[in-house]
Amino acid sequence: MERVIDKVALVTGGARGIGAAVAARLHGEGARVVIADVLDGEGKETAERLGSGALYVHLDVTSPQEWEAAVKAAVEALNNAGIVNFASIEDYTLDQWNAVIAVNLTGTFNGIKASIPALKQSKGGSIINISSIAGLRGYEQIPGYTASKFGVRGLTKSVALDLGRYGIRANSVHPGVISTPMTAGVETDMSRVAIGRMGHPGEVASLVLYLASNESSFVTGAEFVVDGGDTAGTVTPPEAG
Ligand code: NAD
Repeated sequence: MERVIDKVALVTGGARGIGAAVAARLHGEGARVVIADVLDGEGKETAERLGSGALYVHLDVTSPQEWEAAVKAAVEALNNAGIVNFASIEDYTLDQWNAVIAVNLTGTFNGIKASIPALKQSKGGSIINISSIAGLRGYEQIPGYTASKFGVRGLTKSVALDLGRYGIRANSVHPGVISTPMTAGVETDMSRVAIGRMGHPGEVASLVLYLASNESSFVTGAEFVVDGGDTAGTVTPPEAG
């Protein structure tokens, strides 16, 4: 019931989707949560639903100034805010590239930088960066997203090495296809994936809870895949077999 009691978690992109599920899970296990997002209406509602011990703050992760204000009370940090945009590399524009790198990669960098003083002051903590299975292998039509998620994976390892001496851990989480507003309009065939369906945000939240808690005290610089077997290989769908 209280796996993260006395911890304060800042969850970026916490208004909806995976971030909202993580905020709820951590809150349910005793953490105080700071939900940070650019969707003020949805973010406030999410915090109000959780009730006492949950707070919403406006935070655009691309802005270092806004980060400074947001992390004041936070001890654990989940860098989850993310966007995706689509085009083959031939048609992919510099504006698309800049937009996705700014939120997914630079936003994560800003979050780590801004969190360090609070994490050091609390004599440790856990930085959890949401990458993707697109941070492990290539996908067509999302060159910027893929590059940003590979970047988050590499950044996490470097940060783990630099901050281990302070008792600060950093790990990356690599979800497969999860049913959230981000994937709502995207057609996905899960018939060749071992578990054979999309994941739920709560299934990512369970993994994040472990990484946020002291149960993972010896875990840092590592990659955690939660994809129903997507990156393990392909299966033959029952009807085709
Ligand atoms: P989502 O679109 O439902 O939620 C993303 C949240 O991030 C939104 O609340 C949005 O407002 C917020 N956000 C976007 N830009 C922001 C900014 N500049 N500052 C602050 N907040 C901002 O998407 P989701 O599926 O819940 O995605 C969460 C994370 O999980 C993302 O990093 C995404 O890349 C990653 N991910 C998702 C999937 C999936 O299948 N849904 C798979 C792998 C990885």
